[in-house]
Amino acid sequence: MAENEPVMENLGRRLVPYHWSYGDSFTEFFKATKERGAILASRCPVCKGVMAPAVHMCGRCYCEVDEFFDVPDEGELVAYTVVYLPFPGQPNEPPYCYGYIHFDGADTMFPHMIKEVEFDDIQMGMRVKAVWEDPDKRKGDLFDIKHFKPIE
Ligand SMILES: [Zn+2]
Repeated sequence: MAENEPVMENLGRRLVPYHWSYGDSFTEFFKATKERGAILASRCPVCKGVMAPAVHMCGRCYCEVDEFFDVPDEGELVAYTVVYLPFPGQPNEPPYCYGYIHFDGADTMFPHMIKEVEFDDIQMGMRVKAVWEDPDKRKGDLFDIKHFKPIE
């Protein structure tokens, strides 16, 4: 057992490989991250809510959404936590900061890593910007964005 691996006494382990389908919405979202380094959003025709990542159905109105556009890859950090304990499946080595970003022009929040800042200097409301993976290394997944860093 690795030094930082959580204690799981009396628990069995099973390796369950699986594939997760992005579906229509996330396929378009991750196509935009991979091919254009862009954050794809969508707007509900009823409530006018802007969702980033883009979705094809508004979770509030349950209506079809057909307006898609990019929002800036920066916004406001609206919540965060510093994680000190490892847990199975987490690709990051603790301690690290995980936060919710409210992209400019969007009404939803986007979770991702916050780096390039000391934990004590992180504040709710601070401006952050995406740090993109090199274009030739992007795979069309969440790691196309390496993390977010403070700006201003
Ligand atoms: Zn709606």
